[in-house]
Amino acid sequence: MAEYERVEHDVLVIGAGGAGLRAAIAAAATGARVGLVCKSLLGKAHTVMAEGGVAAALANVDDRDSWRVHFADTMRGGQYMNNWRMAELHAREAPDRVRELEAWGAVFDRTSDGRILQRNFGGHRYPRLAHVGDRTGLEMIRTLQDHAIHLGIDVHMEVTVVQLLKDGDRVAGAMAYDRERGRFKLFSSGAVVLATGGIGRAFDITSNSWEYTGDGHSLAYDAGAELVDMEFVQFHPTGMVWPPSVKGILVTEGVRGEGGVLRNNQGKRFMFDDIPDNYKTQTADTEEEGWRYTQGDKNARRPPELLTRDHVARCIQREVREGRGSPHGGVFLDIAWIKSRIPKGAEHIRKKLPSMYHQFMQLANIDITEVPMEVGPTTHYIMGGIWVDGDTQMSNVPGLFAAGECAAGLHGANRLGGNSLSDLLVFGKRAGEYAAEFAKEHTATTMTSTDADDAVASALAPFGRAGSPEAPYAIQHELQGMMQKLVGIVREEGEMRQALDGVAALRERSQAVGVHGNREYNPGWHTALDLHHLMTVSEAITRAALERKESRGGHFRDDYPDKDAAYAKFNIVLRKGSAGEMELERREIPPMPDELKAIIEEQKS
Ligand SMILES: Cc1cc2nc3c(=O)[nH]c(=O)nc-3n(C[C@H](O)[C@H](O)[C@H](O)COP(=O)(O)OP(=O)(O)OC[C@H]3O[C@@H](n4cnc5c(N)ncnc54)[C@H](O)[C@@H]3O)c2cc1C
Repeated sequence: MAEYERVEHDVLVIGAGGAGLRAAIAAAATGARVGLVCKSLLGKAHTVMAEGGVAAALANVDDRDSWRVHFADTMRGGQYMNNWRMAELHAREAPDRVRELEAWGAVFDRTSDGRILQRNFGGHRYPRLAHVGDRTGLEMIRTLQDHAIHLGIDVHMEVTVVQLLKDGDRVAGAMAYDRERGRFKLFSSGAVVLATGGIGRAFDITSNSWEYTGDGHSLAYDAGAELVDMEFVQFHPTGMVWPPSVKGILVTEGVRGEGGVLRNNQGKRFMFDDIPDNYKTQTADTEEEGWRYTQGDKNARRPPELLTRDHVARCIQREVREGRGSPHGGVFLDIAWIKSRIPKGAEHIRKKLPSMYHQFMQLANIDITEVPMEVGPTTHYIMGGIWVDGDTQMSNVPGLFAAGECAAGLHGANRLGGNSLSDLLVFGKRAGEYAAEFAKEHTATTMTSTDADDAVASALAPFGRAGSPEAPYAIQHELQGMMQKLVGIVREEGEMRQALDGVAALRERSQAVGVHGNREYNPGWHTALDLHHLMTVSEAITRAALERKESRGGHFRDDYPDKDAAYAKFNIVLRKGSAGEMELERREIPPMPDELKAIIEEQKS
């Protein structure tokens, strides 16, 4: 029999980013005993990296803003593939969640009359992002963490969940190992909330850190949960492209929100050349109008650099492909030019974008107050994820909830910047509350030791193959390169079929992977275990992308470059079939209530 420690909670939250922390707080506030598990140290989740801000229609900077406009912006940005109920709840509840964060001690930047300051971001009609310079995620994590630990939540740091365990149909716990010693823990709980973040490490160039290997998506899928919208991966338009060691690191959209402009190697602001029809009425006609918008002129319209991320990323890709790129394969993002418009411009840039200033100074030896940055698209976010009920955040597996980036629905085909941090707060809270309610009715049960033993045996299997020629890093590296090349920002049938075969071949090889050494802080072992998750999400992205024979939002097909109205009617759902194969379903999008339809119409002008 395998050795493991048994731990019991009412609610087990897997992931300690914004969504996990907010869920843990909500569950603990009901009196539930909450356990919070994270792969790295508390406070180091992805959320800490968020820069630009959290979107909420507080209307502090422009009183024309409201939840209705935010709802319409989110739906338009998501190309109407969104779960409209989630988009409604999100827009309605985000302001309260941000004010609550402020009441818990978050120190936001301020307007001159002392209210929370809001900045412009792509796809948001009015300045809407509450922020703390360009370190908003750090402030958010700090505040949530302080609040959470005072509620007596049990935190299990540097603990990685390898499998969800079930009691009949419902999820009742998880098996995990601690990174320090490689010892196993069996968690049993009445309900489980997954808040494990994204999948960026399935691609070669990404803004995501090492933790984002799609664990939650894959754990849920293996437990019988449905995945939805997996074809919609967001390639952020502006990642660093040089030097090679930092390729992919994010350059916040806040740079463009503060007046930064994109130019090609001919010095041209190419974004003016291609403005999609559904944004024409809301986009500036001239550079002058765009500049006035970034400086708060309510009569001006946004510059085309602040169009949605999918569009800006593709325009950059086009410039590079057609030979108008920068020396290192990107384009130029220039914030230094605003010195010609703003007194003490260099100081202003350093104050508004302190992290960007330091990032370029330290990593590339470039002073962004003097010269343009070189930027290009980077894999940033996945709109797709675990299917959840819009109100409760429960998946189709009883007792299994999901929130934040690993859950799907809110963002549809494309996420607007700033809508993730608000997503974490709104739906983290909902997930925690409903999970606690579920746990009251379904207490922790004793899972069979056979399931637990199997989970441990499977996690330890790579040690039994120490002599194998297959190494985990090599397989991970090949997968990332292949996904980047064949299922990246521009997709095409033949290449994706090649990718599907490639994933199958790599999966087979990954099952023969061997690792050396012992279980204490063994990164080779950890990588070997991540491979299964990476294969699952890569296959899911590829299958869904093959099925969607059109271009929409984050999903662009060279062989079907236009939107097709027939494909606007359904989401693509994936689940594990009885023989272990990935099953696909086209699921019709439920009709939107008339009240919400009317809001979308009213906001079209
Ligand atoms: C550089 C950067 C800047 C960004 N800026 C913004 C912004 O300005 N505004 C905005 O709205 N969004 C922004 N985003 C996106 C946003 O930060 C993320 O989408 C969001 O933080 C995800 O939060 P989360 O709570 O879902 O997960 P995360 O914060 O990603 O946390 C996931 C947690 O799950 C844990 N975990 C994962 N797998 C396991 C496992 N198997 N076992 C145990 N624990 C596990 C991790 O250790 C971690 O604690 C940015 C993203 C990046 C990368």
